[in-house]
Amino acid sequence: MKVPFVDLSLQYQEIQKEVFDGIQNVCQRGAFILGQEEKDFEAEFAKYCHSQYGVGLNSGTDALYLALSALDIGPGDEVVLPTHTFIATALCVSYTGATPVFADSEDGTFNIDPRSFEKAITKKTKAVLPVHIYGQPADMAEIVAIAHTHGITVIEDAAQAHGAVYKNERVGALGDIACFSFYPTKNLGAFGDGGMVITKRQDIYEKVMMLRDYGRKGRYEHIVKGYNTRLDTVQAVALSAKLKRLDQWNRMRQQVAAWYQDELAGVSGVRLPKVGEDRSHVYHLYVVRVAGRDRVLERLNEEGVGSLIHYPIPVHLQPAYQDAGYKKGDFPVAEQIASEIISLPMFPHMSREQVKGVADVLKKILKGA
Ligand SMILES: *Cc1c(COP(=O)(O)O)cnc(C)c1O
Repeated sequence: MKVPFVDLSLQYQEIQKEVFDGIQNVCQRGAFILGQEEKDFEAEFAKYCHSQYGVGLNSGTDALYLALSALDIGPGDEVVLPTHTFIATALCVSYTGATPVFADSEDGTFNIDPRSFEKAITKKTKAVLPVHIYGQPADMAEIVAIAHTHGITVIEDAAQAHGAVYKNERVGALGDIACFSFYPTKNLGAFGDGGMVITKRQDIYEKVMMLRDYGRKGRYEHIVKGYNTRLDTVQAVALSAKLKRLDQWNRMRQQVAAWYQDELAGVSGVRLPKVGEDRSHVYHLYVVRVAGRDRVLERLNEEGVGSLIHYPIPVHLQPAYQDAGYKKGDFPVAEQIASEIISLPMFPHMSREQVKGVADVLKKILKGA
């Protein structure tokens, strides 16, 4: 059975009419930039996250960059982040001129290890960027406690975890600032690029609002050298329609994960994802660990099971970060994870038969057949 890595066509059918009516509206009024629908979506998503303010931006990467910029983080400062993440988490630190300082991961959840974060703190540390990797909230109670003892600001990289819950609080309201991506395949995805900064802090809100719109306050006065990085109104229309269904689609992802668990629990040679206490996992990705990963991955794809690796090279070992002076062995847990992980197909409308099809192929491969 052929199963694609991701298939959003059924999701699209659910919202098609609502989105096209909405886009037509925007087009007829010509309100393409910062139109009412964009402002409405900022308020809706901030409320959904149990937070206060939302600023719509053109990507998750810019959300991270503007959040750091709003804190005046720059050359001479350090920001701690997990090495096991998408490279954008580190790039945004580099854009500011600050130094990304990497931390190791927890073996069970793939998330940043709070002890490794604590060890990485110096007098120069200004912020920590926990990533809710694959859709599972990081250990935010520990991270926030450590950070606030040292006067460090907590910025959630929530690009993979829209809607996940930690100790009855929604991701996005767990630190000082949260950054989301609406890249099309994320749990809440636009019809192109998009992102958002969410915060309860009015000063950060006002600064990010300025930074995304040429640094201006009012129409003609420019307070800082800002950027042009706004969320398009038509994207907000699509995102609003999808937000109404996000909880349902996340539950469907959890059902898919439960089916995988049914099919694969106890199968020798594969380790299934673990969910920490007191939190929900929204399975942006379904990531298993196997021995002989490269061969297993190749065979899965040969059999028509779309599979990928998120991410095979920890950021501290990427060529782009060679100048940072890290070496192999610096973060043993993250490096081990990177060598064993495979992301199996995962999307809300995946059927029980598709899950069984993937599991059957994987079992066959692991048996050496
Ligand atoms: C997708 C992603 C980003 C970047 O978001 P873009 O919208 O693609 O710029 C940042 N961090 C993580 C963890 C991501 O998964």
